[in-house]
Amino acid sequence: MRGAVSPESSVNRPQPKIPGAIRAFTVFGVPVRFHFTFLLLVAFLIVVGLDDRPSAMGDAIFIGALFASVLLHEIGHAVVARHFGVRTIEIVMFPIGGVARLASSPPARKEFWIASAGPLVNLIITGALLGIAAYTQPEMSGMETLTDPSDADLLERIAYGNLILALFNLLPAFPMDGGRILRSVLAIWKSDEAATQIASRAGRTLAVAMGLYGLISMQFMLLFIAFFVYLGAAQEGQAAMGRSLMHGVPVRAAMITKFVALSHGDTVGDAAKLLLDSAQQDFPVLHGEQVVGLLDRHALLRAMAAEGADAYIAGEADRGFLRLSPDMDLAEAMNQMAEAGPCALVMDGDRLLGLLTRENLSEFILLRKVGMTPEVGR
Ligand SMILES: [Zn+2]
Repeated sequence: MRGAVSPESSVNRPQPKIPGAIRAFTVFGVPVRFHFTFLLLVAFLIVVGLDDRPSAMGDAIFIGALFASVLLHEIGHAVVARHFGVRTIEIVMFPIGGVARLASSPPARKEFWIASAGPLVNLIITGALLGIAAYTQPEMSGMETLTDPSDADLLERIAYGNLILALFNLLPAFPMDGGRILRSVLAIWKSDEAATQIASRAGRTLAVAMGLYGLISMQFMLLFIAFFVYLGAAQEGQAAMGRSLMHGVPVRAAMITKFVALSHGDTVGDAAKLLLDSAQQDFPVLHGEQVVGLLDRHALLRAMAAEGADAYIAGEADRGFLRLSPDMDLAEAMNQMAEAGPCALVMDGDRLLGLLTRENLSEFILLRKVGMTPEVGR
């Protein structure tokens, strides 16, 4: 089990939400969701727990307490992130741990504290539980003959479980929190991208070492964790590469300039025809020269089903669409789009200049990678 904090800045089309997760509750305004594989694990543990071994109850409490600890770890990240003005999109619980997804990547100094907060929560839990255990131990020693001996030291097991969680997450390699702490410290001397590449390489090296050890010692759980560490480290490295390719490039260089716009008097049927006729998925809606809103594919299909083809699109378009300035840095634009949605309008005052979508951002990065710097997107 591990806890991680993940800024939503991957260039590979960041999704607004991790699919396959079920919303459970909200803490400090942050939705907490459980991935369906997590629910499968809980079901499995309940079935195993029905087996009436004497320590089954203790095991169930132990595992439940560790997951609660992982959740508290993620909440620690979210609370400190909020203190620094960085929103947490959601906390998702996976069988191997939790992830707090941040809306943007914070600057190094803030990242240091946000990343440290999670392991710190586990260290505090360790200290508190060991303190309670030491305080109550003399009274409990007489009870040990009545209860299962493994249940008596349950507090200590949970305490050491938290210590392991904290230490594992402090490993100085991506995608662990320690990797983020390492990057934020390296960023004092090095560029953000160089610091990220070092932390990413550390993560991949650690994963390979962990995997080899898992193979030699036949500990396949370790092999499984190593696989996820490798994937996470590689993904972080790529995202950093994407950011470095976009730094210093203005939005106008990547925007789509050849696009079709809808008029506010068009119907849902007109828009549906355009959706079929072109490769475009998102349409600006204009009233004369004035931009009224943005109609995306989802809203269009929803309107088609709910209102029918004759409804006017003016009522269906999103009026709170994301506006970007043509001179804004692409890296910043991508941060804003990770939160706002897959399409934004590039506007100079009230004048519509172009569209920026996640797809054409990905294409732009691909072209930059092979050494081409397109003057305009598409
Ligand atoms: Zn963490």
